[in-house]
Amino acid sequence: MDPKIEQAIELNAEHLRRILPLMHQHKIPATPENYAVWYHYVLGDEKALSARIDQAIAGQIPFSGQLNEELFALLNSPDQHLAMARIGEQLQALLRETSGAISATGERARSYDDTLQRLHSDLDDSPRQAASGMELLQAVLHETSQMRSSLQRMQQDFDTKSQEMDQLKVELEQVRHRATTDPLTGLANRTAFAERLETLIADAARNATPLHLLMFDIDHFKRVNDTHGHVIGDKVIRFVAKTLKEHACDNCLAARYGGEEFTLLYPASSLEEATALAEGIRHTIREARLVRTGSRESIGQVTISGGVAGYRPDQDPTDLIQQADEALYAAKHGGRDRIMVD
Ligand code: GH3
Ligand code: MG
Ligand code: MG
Repeated sequence: MDPKIEQAIELNAEHLRRILPLMHQHKIPATPENYAVWYHYVLGDEKALSARIDQAIAGQIPFSGQLNEELFALLNSPDQHLAMARIGEQLQALLRETSGAISATGERARSYDDTLQRLHSDLDDSPRQAASGMELLQAVLHETSQMRSSLQRMQQDFDTKSQEMDQLKVELEQVRHRATTDPLTGLANRTAFAERLETLIADAARNATPLHLLMFDIDHFKRVNDTHGHVIGDKVIRFVAKTLKEHACDNCLAARYGGEEFTLLYPASSLEEATALAEGIRHTIREARLVRTGSRESIGQVTISGGVAGYRPDQDPTDLIQQADEALYAAKHGGRDRIMVD
């Protein structure tokens, strides 16, 4: 656009910004005549008119229909068409600016933006038609004040809602965590294990991929409790859990299945991989030299027994657990501190 024209439009838009609040403030109906009056008042190019308006404002005289007519009559060159052509330009410039700003505020303002864009294009269709210009002016006045308060309300609502949502997310996550995590060890609990087992069995059945279930039980754990007490017993449980966690692969799930019993789900694994994982865990635990904190007194060697079961087609979760349990039982009966495969 020609910079001169652009400048003129900017100037006109600036006038419009001053005229609208003034007309609003003095409760002036938005008619073409009144607009022409206030346009020249803001422009300051009609001395008699400006003096009469200033006088009315100072004397707190209401702008009645009669006074408005009188003011219009004071205009030296009340060329409505010319005035309205200017209004058209001003409205277009204001709407362009307003709709641009609103677009930037994003989705929330979308409906208002649409309204203003529609008004803008209506105006484009007939920029020099005085009457429709004034209707549009009224519509813009209305829309603008509605938009402002609605946007504020929406913003407040949005802020409150998003804070509530954040808080709810945190609480939900805490609840979910509590419901699926064993508090002593931080491993998945039995519920989470059961859920994952069901999912992994469904995956394995659908994709014909392997799945292994490893089950462990601490050997002669009663003795640990009897000799060192439950507090030390708990520490041993935590140590075994930590070892499981460290050995588990990324897509494995290690869980505390019961008091001193643990499970590990190992999807997409071969029997060799699953057995090697179980042996690694067993080895790490038997090699550890556990001592009491403080006195450094030895807790004695801790060992575990384990059973490995591979998923077979058409097994349900209970079948696979039972299969792993049988392998574990065999390990216990075979002398403990060993891994057996079923
Ligand atoms: P086995 O080698 O045959 O497994 O012998 P075991 O003594 O380990 O026998 P079992 O597995 O039946 O013993 C489980 C014991 O673990 C019984 C119970 O007192 C103890 N226990 C279970 N849960 C906890 C716990 O959370 N903390 C502690 N300290 N002890 C527990
Ligand atoms: Mg047990
Ligand atoms: Mg045991």
